[in-house]
Amino acid sequence: MFNALVVEKDAEGTTSASVQAIDLDQLPEGDVTVAVTYSTLNYKDGLCLGPGGGLVRQYPHVPGIDFAGNVEASDDPRYKPGDKVVLTGWRVGESHWGGYAQKARVKADWLVPLPDGIDPRQAMAVGTAGFTAMLAVMALEDHGIKDGPVLVTGAAGGVGSVATAILSKLGYQVAAVTGRPETADYLTSLGATQIVPRDEINTPTKRPLESETWGGCIDAVGGAMLSRVLGQMQYGASVAAVGLAGGAALNATVVPFLLRGVNLLGIDSVMQPYARRLQAWERIASDLPMEKLESMIQPATLSDLPKLGADILQGSVKGRVVVDVNS
Ligand code: NDP
Repeated sequence: MFNALVVEKDAEGTTSASVQAIDLDQLPEGDVTVAVTYSTLNYKDGLCLGPGGGLVRQYPHVPGIDFAGNVEASDDPRYKPGDKVVLTGWRVGESHWGGYAQKARVKADWLVPLPDGIDPRQAMAVGTAGFTAMLAVMALEDHGIKDGPVLVTGAAGGVGSVATAILSKLGYQVAAVTGRPETADYLTSLGATQIVPRDEINTPTKRPLESETWGGCIDAVGGAMLSRVLGQMQYGASVAAVGLAGGAALNATVVPFLLRGVNLLGIDSVMQPYARRLQAWERIASDLPMEKLESMIQPATLSDLPKLGADILQGSVKGRVVVDVNS
């Protein structure tokens, strides 16, 4: 038996989450069983833990869209017991039981061997949010980052914190947008060179184009923020759109695309091919300063997660919540 955070739904449709002892044979099908050591809290986990259930299709359910740990048993020749592995994406924690448990069983294809230079706890301090931040940086690089500062929106959140630290390490000026002025010191310590108050960019304007300001952008907020940022990009610069913490509606014109050649790059971390996932994790191990990563960590246990899930949906979590599933 081992512990898992199980979400159940009663006959009235009310969901509740509790730590329960479960058996290996309750785990879903898969080629590889992993002894999970760490998982994390992401925005999607907040949805899966909440009353709406996010993308959960069947109850009981074990959330946790990412995890890291050691292979315990494997039917796949690529993995042997003891190998350190990390998983993000593939609907794990949504339609397949996820990382909020001391063991998980998944398809071998969904795993990535953890590269040297990063341990399972650090990998989960990065987690899906940080992995996505790295994918966003790689997408900006593929299209060329211009000379101006790179704007990071939702900067004090998970994606934003890791994006800020990586971009700074790579030598870019980083303008961090936050609605929480009290996080300015934290963002500066991660490498932000400029703090931009959220209201400066989150308010709509009738002007389709403003001054050419940003050499690139990683946007975790969407909505009004993304709509306005498009008109502030330098000629030929790119926006990597990662999330919608501020809303899904995009009220923009085509003018920034036509007259400034702006690129809008959608980032999806869920279905990335193996080679790109491996490359992203190798880049994380080499380009993310681990001492900055430490300052982003908020430790948690399985039983802390229902409360923290509500917090992340309200945008009040700072940095990355790292769940020690064995404590
Ligand atoms: P967090 O909650 O940690 O961070 C989101 C940040 O956005 C908040 O900290 C806050 O930053 C800002 N924010 C929140 N609400 C609003 C609002 N109403 N208006 C403006 N800004 C707001 O979430 P994550 O960083 O983990 O994820 C961010 C987004 O990225 C989510 O939508 C998530 O679903 C998505 N995502 C997408 C992935 C993909 O594959 N595309 C993978 C991972 C995440 P501040 O306080 O600094 O203003």
